[in-house]
Amino acid sequence: MMIDITIDSAINEDMPRIKLFWTGGFDSTFRMIQLSRFNVIVQPYYLADYQHRNSIKNELEAIKVISEDIKNHPETKFVMKPLIIVDVKDIGSDEIIKASHQRLFQEIALGSQYEWLAVFAKNHQGVELSLEKGRLQKYFETVAAFSKHSVGGVSFQVIDKERSSEDVVNIFGNFHFPYPVSELTKLEIVEEYKRLGFGEIISKTWFCHNPVKNEPCGVCTPCRQIVEKGMSFRISPSGMKRYKTDQKYRKKVWFIFFKKIRLKVCGY
Ligand SMILES: [Zn+2]
Repeated sequence: MMIDITIDSAINEDMPRIKLFWTGGFDSTFRMIQLSRFNVIVQPYYLADYQHRNSIKNELEAIKVISEDIKNHPETKFVMKPLIIVDVKDIGSDEIIKASHQRLFQEIALGSQYEWLAVFAKNHQGVELSLEKGRLQKYFETVAAFSKHSVGGVSFQVIDKERSSEDVVNIFGNFHFPYPVSELTKLEIVEEYKRLGFGEIISKTWFCHNPVKNEPCGVCTPCRQIVEKGMSFRISPSGMKRYKTDQKYRKKVWFIFFKKIRLKVCGY
């Protein structure tokens, strides 16, 4: 499935090509904006996890609206290819990746999405993945090494396969990691958005996995992180109320059960 958001510029076949995941969220949208200033051809992919996300419609809508803004910005140079939407069920599996993912799940509770992301990257070498500063990066400090590269002025990092653990190489070895996105804090990225003339786009990005009445829920992982990283201005008053209730009771056993039921019944 494709959404036609091609930016009309003459395609020069010698231009570097960059593949990346675009969720319509804060980090990957920032990368799109960074890339828009380079003479490159960009192919965005949206991997749709219909089983675990209630936010696909919101994310695709955000991508559509933001694409127009990038397209209309006077300093946009890149060629944006139409968004390719892939159902995660169609990505397939890989025994080596599956085994490595299982080990990393045991060790650091690595999210299930990294298994299909890794299979996708094996078939789409060099696709960019925006990694957030945090737990995973902390883990990488002990078991992985990176090398920095640049193509057409665009910088990225790759896993150094000689100096990283086998499981890390199997899961993360085929990605490019945008540089310096992962070095920046959320608030530093906000400043960068503004510097590039896209400060207003931040409110158009989408992050919540389980929207309530088309607004961020306040209690899913990305909503919680948004609040914890100083960006609670992005959550509505009713979302913040849910956030505060969750924080108050989060360690109570009954509340953990209540949350499971709430997710099933209310969808957040
Ligand atoms: Zn949420």
